[in-house]
Amino acid sequence: MLTGNTPILVLREGTKREKGRGALSNNIAAAKAIADAVRSTLGPRGLDKMLVDSMGDVVVTNDGVTILKEMDVEHPAAKMLVEVAKTQDQECGDGTTTAVVLAGELLKRAEGLIEQNVHPTIISQGYRLAAQKALEVLNGISQPVKVDDLETLKRIAVTAMASKSVSFNRDQLADISVKAVSAVVEKTETGHYVDLDNIQVIKKQGGSLSDSQLIEGVIVDKEKVHSGMPTHVANPKIALLDAALEIKKTEIDAKIEINDPSQLNAFLQEEENMLRRMVEQVKKSGATVVLCQKGIDDLAQHFLSKEGIYAVRRVKKSDMEKLAKATGANIVSKVSELTPADVGSAGLVEERKIGEDSLTFVTGCKNAKAVSILLRGGTEHVLDEIERSMDDALNVVAVAVEDGRIIIGGGAAASEIALRLRDEAAKIGGREQIAFESFAEALETVPRTLAENAGLDPIDILIELRQSHKAGQKFAGVNIHSGKVDDMFKLHVIEPIRVGRQAIQSATDAAVMILRIDDVIASKSGGPPGGGGGPGGPGGMGGMGGMGGGDFGED
Ligand code: ADP
Ligand code: MG
Repeated sequence: MLTGNTPILVLREGTKREKGRGALSNNIAAAKAIADAVRSTLGPRGLDKMLVDSMGDVVVTNDGVTILKEMDVEHPAAKMLVEVAKTQDQECGDGTTTAVVLAGELLKRAEGLIEQNVHPTIISQGYRLAAQKALEVLNGISQPVKVDDLETLKRIAVTAMASKSVSFNRDQLADISVKAVSAVVEKTETGHYVDLDNIQVIKKQGGSLSDSQLIEGVIVDKEKVHSGMPTHVANPKIALLDAALEIKKTEIDAKIEINDPSQLNAFLQEEENMLRRMVEQVKKSGATVVLCQKGIDDLAQHFLSKEGIYAVRRVKKSDMEKLAKATGANIVSKVSELTPADVGSAGLVEERKIGEDSLTFVTGCKNAKAVSILLRGGTEHVLDEIERSMDDALNVVAVAVEDGRIIIGGGAAASEIALRLRDEAAKIGGREQIAFESFAEALETVPRTLAENAGLDPIDILIELRQSHKAGQKFAGVNIHSGKVDDMFKLHVIEPIRVGRQAIQSATDAAVMILRIDDVIASKSGGPPGGGGGPGGPGGMGGMGGMGGGDFGED
């Protein structure tokens, strides 16, 4: 708090300022609104949202972080919840809705406590302690999973995709995700590491979801440049060029005066010779395939084709890097410096027609740690949601492999933690007891919302859940299909521990941070929350984070 005399704050005219209770309840209201926006999508029976942006583009999704990213959120506290979703997405790629709903619920319970005159600082402290205890319990109830336990890994992927619209095909997609992660996993001194950058995901509209497949190799989303080139090259020698197979146009304007037809001929001849020499250089390197990041002149295409060399132009830089890793080729930036030592190899390079487009497949690579997933789907919107589902699946499998531990979903882990927090609350007593109880209730939002979204009576389910857990059934959760409480372990509803851990951590962090703000100072340029205005004005809320005075002193 500000000590001593009346604080002197000189603010520009038009600055909006809100203090104390008013500021807090305004922030909590905004955070709750965000949580409410995504609640109805939680779980396999959750519904999708259709988002339409100012350009009229449509996104149909069930993905918490996607919904929040697409929403044009303006309130500063609401933005903090959007950050929770983004952090969750970065750290584990799943559980975004859960994290946001949990944060909203923690704040809602806090509001009730504040009305009973419990100070926000006490609530924050209680929440922090409760979160710590919750994480301990989470660790305790987690189960080990091995890298080679493909069956369990597949179930993790299936659970993550359960809530997406692709769920009817998820078995196949789950299989692809597990194979892809298994192909790129690396052993480290302490465990395992998965670099998802080694997994390339390519979407091609057309066909059906079941045509999606895993390719062991790299797919370049480009066709060969000349129809005379071969369509398959077995045991190819691959050159990677970061240089154009073209004659450079001079940077400066130059004028060449030609006053005799033979001079023109000589000039054109020289151009042709230069291109011929470039192709000659490629041929001398032994390359039978050239993948070029820049352009390839028509004439050079013709020469390459005559040599039977397969060539692709304008390959993406990121693909070039993958290709270098996979084939062992060096990326050469000057054609004249290309040598046999720079050329890499693979089992096969071929052009395949996928839907409308022809793509180049580089397979049978020396370094098997390069795989690609080709996703197919009827429409653009479906395909985008398939991609998001695949992304979730890859992430959860990778995270499970890295951490080697799983928890039970369907609200089972949340209910078990709630039970233990209540036990603990009774032991600690005092004012923190209330915060512990509120934290436990907030965690129970997970099963409650799963039940609600499945059209079940949340109260009945919660009562039954509490009884089951009290009776020692640690894995009891909501069976959304039968509408009963069931053993979720037996039903294979499993998740990586990191998803649960991160959700608890980031939800608590956001809730505590919002609870500690008692002064919102919004500068004029940003416009007050809800102030409308043009789309151009983000930020401007700079005062919000750091201006709370001494309140931010200790944890
Ligand atoms: P999030 O963005 O938080 O991942 P989801 O919409 O993916 O949200 O829902 C995840 C929740 O759905 C988790 O609590 C998970 O345990 C639960 N869940 C997934 N599959 C099932 C199932 N078959 N039965 C019950 N709950 C499930
Ligand atoms: Mg999910």
